[in-house]
Amino acid sequence: MIQESCILLYNASIVSSDGVRAGAVGIRNERISNVWYAGDDGTVEFGGKHIPAKELPSAFLEMYPGAEATDTAGKLLMAGGIDAHVHFREPGLTAKADISSESSAAVLGGVTSFIDMPNTTPPTVSAARLSEKLAIAEGRSYANYGFHLGATNNNSEEIRALAGSEDFAGIKVFMGSSTGNMLVDNDSALKDIFHIKGKRVLVHCEDESIIRENMQKAIERYGEAIPFRAHEEIRSRRACIRSAAKALEMAIEYGTRLHLLHVSTAEEIEMVRAAKQINREITAETSANYLWFCDSDYDTLGSKVKCNPSIKTARDRDALREALKDGIIDTVGSDHAPHLESEKLRPYLYAPSGIPSIQHSLPVLLTVAQQEDIPVERIASAFSEKPAELFGIKDRGAIKEGYYADIVIVDPECRFTPVRDDLRYKCGWTPYEGAELKGKVDTVFVNGKKAVSKGRLTTEGPAGNKLVFKN
Ligand SMILES: [Zn+2]
Repeated sequence: MIQESCILLYNASIVSSDGVRAGAVGIRNERISNVWYAGDDGTVEFGGKHIPAKELPSAFLEMYPGAEATDTAGKLLMAGGIDAHVHFREPGLTAKADISSESSAAVLGGVTSFIDMPNTTPPTVSAARLSEKLAIAEGRSYANYGFHLGATNNNSEEIRALAGSEDFAGIKVFMGSSTGNMLVDNDSALKDIFHIKGKRVLVHCEDESIIRENMQKAIERYGEAIPFRAHEEIRSRRACIRSAAKALEMAIEYGTRLHLLHVSTAEEIEMVRAAKQINREITAETSANYLWFCDSDYDTLGSKVKCNPSIKTARDRDALREALKDGIIDTVGSDHAPHLESEKLRPYLYAPSGIPSIQHSLPVLLTVAQQEDIPVERIASAFSEKPAELFGIKDRGAIKEGYYADIVIVDPECRFTPVRDDLRYKCGWTPYEGAELKGKVDTVFVNGKKAVSKGRLTTEGPAGNKLVFKN
């Protein structure tokens, strides 16, 4: 017989994109069975009758002996995070990270679903590679898992044929170079991909020719001893702007469902704002890294904050925070991109780009929200609801009856500082070590199973399911 599980979370402050409301949530097995909001008369409906809201826990325990009732007073209860931009390095790069290690860090950070990028080894650029990756993740992931397919100069036909599949989320395009090997630099291939209907096209925008030119100048100036601060000049704002302009222009012309990834400049925000007026399917992402760090951090953190696109100025960071508040930024992905510390300790030219961050992206968002007066409902939208909507993830991304019980409970007042011993990343480091954060993940449910309790992993083990993408 299957063990029935029955949980009540009461005295909850339930956050959704509509606001924060007092209520209670019931979980039966893997789904949310009930969401109660007290009516004007202070009662809730339970077992066919109206009872005072404060009597709900005792009535619940009476009806379901053996159930668990948890008081969540003072905390915020939100749908678990859906991080549509991670690099978990498997297959092929498992010395840096793997699906098991990084997904356990994800749930500790309140992320209950992730979508992994295709720049693994081998890259995920065909149906066969996608099947391999799905098989690798099965039974090993602490969070629900899904994958993007990568576009190349010559796989648009295969991707078009797969566009109706529920097995992958979106199509990742590197317009410009990155650490992967999937640069699409052929305009006719790009056009074919932007014409594909049915899946969202996710674009990394940095113009390769501008970067090469800047790199040449930096080498002439510094030789091999390029300071990390120069990263912002090499992978410059102009490289981002030119590439994003091209992507937005094409998305307008072809009606593409474009998702502009990791926006890092104030100028791109204004371009996205204008482009959205013409093509409502255009959306934009940033990551916690760009909301938290700025160019002055290169002096203290060096290669630890080297990522692509580069971290820009404090002015850009402020503009990104404002865009998160006003909704021009639709989603926040972590762009979790681990490398070994020994690799990061190399000189500029040899240190790989990428930041491990998924365990702290929600606390960073909550901290920024409190600093900038960004309503917490904007965080619920960008962290969970909008990603579910953009990728057609069924029955996840909101606290609703019938949805999967992917839930994160945070203490918004708890101040803490990430320390190395608490990191679950296989690489064992992050530039957020020592950061002063306010807003700590307390409890996390994945498919109704308690994955995190009092900020610690439970013994529940991997409970993640394969995500289903309905568009
Ligand atoms: Zn990325």
